Amino acid sequence: MSGGCDHAVEHMYYYLDSEMTWYRRMRIRRHLRRCGGCCDAYEFETRLKKLIRERGRSEPPPELFESLRALIRQEAADEPEA
Ligand SMILES: [Zn+2]
Repeated sequence: MSGGCDHAVEHMYYYLDSEMTWYRRMRIRRHLRRCGGCCDAYEFETRLKKLIRERGRSEPPPELFESLRALIRQEAADEPEA
């Protein structure tokens, strides 16, 4: 029910579009921590793919999703949910 995930996906979308600034990076990382796995990494990825399709971009390379999954896992493990 939290809208934060959508925003995190939005930020990740811009990551594909341009270089990721430290500020965007920080915002995503902050969200991942608060969200603890970000609504399940799989769902996050699904939303991102949908967003990409909606905006008419070509599919990003699978490596991106792998690093994305790693980031989410890492952040989730970093700080146990309160
Ligand atoms: Zn989330």
